[in-house]
Amino acid sequence: MEIEIATIGGYEEVGRQMTAVRAGDDVVVFDMGLNLSKVLIHDNVETERMHSLDLIDMGAIPDDRVMSDLEGDVKAIVPTHGHLDHIGAISKLAHRYDAPIVATPFTIELVKQQIKSEEKFGVQNDLKKMEAGETMSIGDKNELEFVNVTHSIIDAINPVLHTPEGAIVYGLDKRMDHTPVIGDPIDMERFREIGREGEGVLCYIEDCTNAGKKGRTPSESVARRHLKDVMYSLEDYDGGIVATTFSSHIARVTSLVEFAEDIGRQPVLLGRSMEKYSGTAERLDFVDFPDDLGMYGHRKSVDRTFKRIMNEGKENFLPIVTGHQGEPRAMLTRMGRGETPYEIDDGDKVIFSARVIPEPTNEGQRYQSEKLLGMQGARIYDDIHVSGHLNKEGHYEMLDALQPQNIIPAHQDLSGFSDYVNLCESEGYKMGRDLHVTRNGNLIQLVE
Ligand SMILES: [Zn+2]
Repeated sequence: MEIEIATIGGYEEVGRQMTAVRAGDDVVVFDMGLNLSKVLIHDNVETERMHSLDLIDMGAIPDDRVMSDLEGDVKAIVPTHGHLDHIGAISKLAHRYDAPIVATPFTIELVKQQIKSEEKFGVQNDLKKMEAGETMSIGDKNELEFVNVTHSIIDAINPVLHTPEGAIVYGLDKRMDHTPVIGDPIDMERFREIGREGEGVLCYIEDCTNAGKKGRTPSESVARRHLKDVMYSLEDYDGGIVATTFSSHIARVTSLVEFAEDIGRQPVLLGRSMEKYSGTAERLDFVDFPDDLGMYGHRKSVDRTFKRIMNEGKENFLPIVTGHQGEPRAMLTRMGRGETPYEIDDGDKVIFSARVIPEPTNEGQRYQSEKLLGMQGARIYDDIHVSGHLNKEGHYEMLDALQPQNIIPAHQDLSGFSDYVNLCESEGYKMGRDLHVTRNGNLIQLVE
């Protein structure tokens, strides 16, 4: 059976991930992501109303025109998890393919919301839920399987396409977490089985984000303990405490909510995306928040809540807000600019349960946000976080488990691939032979 891989997006950047695998006549698409930094750099761009081709020209969504060179039918579109760089282009591209979107329940729900807010295209693809551990047939000869992985968002999987020539494992995005705060540990046992059964692993497509970092990525339970240490140390503080983190990071939000109550403060989630992700997780029963946990997204209800907090005494509350990267329109940035009814006093604490995404725009915006907060007297606690991506030792472990015959580095640009390339070469792989460094828009034929 002919096996061909189209590396469509996310091979020259972090963002707009998209890869297609053709096995005989069947094609499966993994991820359709958005490169948010290409959108945010322009003022007032509303992607909801934009045409795909304009977004492709901006570099915001994958240029999927290479798909016409693949001789097969798309049988499934498979987003691996709910981060925007993996699902953000579905509303712009999926309608071109007559195929269902197959994902885990939390991811499907986020895809559904995204399709709903789309204003240019009517996306009619079937939405099909599939849990980790389940499989579905792709045509007569291939099978799709979801393997449970751990990442900075719940319900993440690595999809595996089993073909007569061996398995194709799509490895984006994960960390090796054996004690995640929510959900099951990464299913390493299944990865080891896949590496040893049948024809083995024909190809492994891997996220290189942290391949240059030594050691292993700590578990989410480590970030949780760090956060607990910081928050418990503030138990006797009788002024304002504000916290921020990734809205989609449900495990972290849960820890913040829990520790707020432990130190005698009422948690409240503020900001549009805080309401969106936490509300969705609660509706789908991934979390069990306290009944009286307030979640407010709209500007008016947020400001009303801030007024209530000021009236009832801010020492009784812990607002958990958007703005961990200093995004100009996010809640914490507005608080820093003094645009909300919440007044920050000398000595008040601001907890960043996040790391700055190492990108000049983020670094500048976060710097500005911290300065503004500092000018009002805020004290900053930052970097209470662990990464969602594998470090070096995790990568070695994955190669050992899967023993792949071919490797395609992904989720980076060329310079970002280099550490992973060195790591693979130290394990006996060779560039141009079984280690395929590629760019957006290329086809790699693995079996002729
Ligand atoms: Zn991710």
